Amino acid sequence: MLKITPYLGILVVIVSIAGLWYPILGYFMLLVFATLLIISPFRGRWFCGNLCPRGSFNDFWVGKISKNKKIPPVLRSFWIRVPIFIFMMGFMGYRLLQTQGLFYQIGMIFVIMCLTTTTIAILLGFSINPRTWCTFCPMGTLQHILGKDRYQVHLDDEKCISCRKCDKVCPMQLDVRNSLSKRDCIKCGRCIEICPRDALAFEN
Ligand code: SF4
Ligand code: SF4
Ligand code: SF4
Repeated sequence: MLKITPYLGILVVIVSIAGLWYPILGYFMLLVFATLLIISPFRGRWFCGNLCPRGSFNDFWVGKISKNKKIPPVLRSFWIRVPIFIFMMGFMGYRLLQTQGLFYQIGMIFVIMCLTTTTIAILLGFSINPRTWCTFCPMGTLQHILGKDRYQVHLDDEKCISCRKCDKVCPMQLDVRNSLSKRDCIKCGRCIEICPRDALAFEN
């Protein structure tokens, strides 16, 4: 995690609320989209754990009031994630076509999308776990696909004492030592920091 990561949440508040009066702020979403597209082929979901304003907002603000329950495993299923991805991208494309290219209307569509998804993410974050939305967020799914197995947390079996401290701090509730779950790792590095035996490290 970067030093600025905990403070980025303010950006999602600005875009979602101030954007209703200043639709130009919606274009910030394009910057987010471009950034994660550039990073994900090399670092998988690194953007989610380090630069995403909504991820930061949920981790560090919603996390303070969250019920911190187990995220339902079904939400990680691609039978859920792919239809959500197709629906949201299709719906946004349809709305953008309706604007006929008008600058402020396009900006407003991005603002409304940001406000809607952030509201859902906050409600899920409060009632279940801060990163619930991130298990099936379309942008997370896209990074999962583009990133494949890049920059994974590698386990040194000989050092591990099976204390499971790594699993307890993982914001995505992953089985940290199981490579099958690693494509949804958001590269926050918390498991690596907490490991008492230095048994974990990022590897390309
Ligand atoms: S899954 Fe979506 S909301 Fe969550 S951190 Fe990644 S891009 Fe942001
Ligand atoms: S925190 Fe380190 S030692 Fe403990 S289970 Fe995880 S990898 Fe193993
Ligand atoms: S596996 Fe480690 S680096 Fe990946 S999300 Fe979980 S705590 Fe963060």
